[in-house]
Amino acid sequence: MAALPTDQLGMKKRIYLDYAATTPMLPQVWHAMQDIHDKAYGNPSSIHAEGRLSRTVIEEARKVVAHHIGASLGEVFFTSCGTECNNMIIRSCVRDLGVRTILTSPIEHPSVLETCHYVREQYGVEVTLLPLTAFGLVDMQALEDALSRNSDKKVLVSLMHVNNEIGCMHDLNAVGQLCRTYGALFHSDTVQSVGFHHFNMEALPVDFIVGSSHKFYGPKGVGFVFIKSGTGLRPLLFGGSQERNMRSGTENILGIHGLAQAIQLADDNLESRMDHVSHLFTTMKASLQHTMPEITFNGGPEGAQSPKILSVNFPPGPRTDMLLLHLDIEGISASGGSACSSGAETPSPVLKYLPIVREGRTVRFSFASMTTGEELLHVTEVLHRLLYST
Ligand code: PLP
Repeated sequence: MAALPTDQLGMKKRIYLDYAATTPMLPQVWHAMQDIHDKAYGNPSSIHAEGRLSRTVIEEARKVVAHHIGASLGEVFFTSCGTECNNMIIRSCVRDLGVRTILTSPIEHPSVLETCHYVREQYGVEVTLLPLTAFGLVDMQALEDALSRNSDKKVLVSLMHVNNEIGCMHDLNAVGQLCRTYGALFHSDTVQSVGFHHFNMEALPVDFIVGSSHKFYGPKGVGFVFIKSGTGLRPLLFGGSQERNMRSGTENILGIHGLAQAIQLADDNLESRMDHVSHLFTTMKASLQHTMPEITFNGGPEGAQSPKILSVNFPPGPRTDMLLLHLDIEGISASGGSACSSGAETPSPVLKYLPIVREGRTVRFSFASMTTGEELLHVTEVLHRLLYST
């Protein structure tokens, strides 16, 4: 039996498998932020030396991000988070770019779905939730039919890259090509994939993507939006001229610096990190299948699934009802649906839109480069004990 790892004092370490919710900040990122903490306190809009230093920090960070996603400097804008970016894009597409039809999926993040709901109520925008395949991906024929039916209208397609609950992954190039054919704008919520995939925005037919630093080992409360030049998007916030008038409010200099350090580190060893994570994904899936044959998995087929996220369906029964709670007691952090105020586990709203009925409990395990095979072996053994021991 694999022993739970211990720290220097012999205390059992917890096993954190909820990296899709958020990641710890890497020490190198924290150190880089500390390095500039005492120096870059000037307001970046001030013209004095302190202000100019802060401005330099921001513009250096913009270069790093633009390089990472293959964009030009003028296409990258810093914000507070992914939620803000998604709101900004959808609301401005409707308010300023004349979008009257949005094609999206029922399993987008709430920052997309609730904003779509808002623009439907507020501006009478027609919002279509496209049908999904069993993998959780949008049916491409249904997307093309909807684009063709609406080809006389200004359309926004909003489809996430990697789904945050089940990890299925859209082919951004294929969706983008369809959008280009029918003259639609394309927004992809890439919060789960920035820092884990290569992007070349110059070549990719996508108008807007989004990054959130806390998903790729950077600080919380800072993100960025890519806006393809020439789209004419307008700001969400008014009252300042920061970010070339696109995002008012004094910049989060430390956060932006940390985000850039994190994305640089992600870039430096992206392949080896993703190889490790893919290995963890395949090994844990195989060992769960081997020891508990009745469990099933959610997500895309090979090539259309992010190895960061393993979504597992455990069969119904009294032992699975409080599975997350029992895992937590065992020192293992994973996630499922949202926890309601009573602390009871409620099923994920994403799964009910998949065209396959799943009973029982679904648990999302999400991995990082610091996750070890030993930890996952321990988790598999604990799951087996929780579900089968007499
Ligand atoms: N989009 C996706 C797919 C996410 O997973 C999240 C966070 O969980 C968000 C958007 C929101 O990002 P943020 O926490 O930066 O607001």
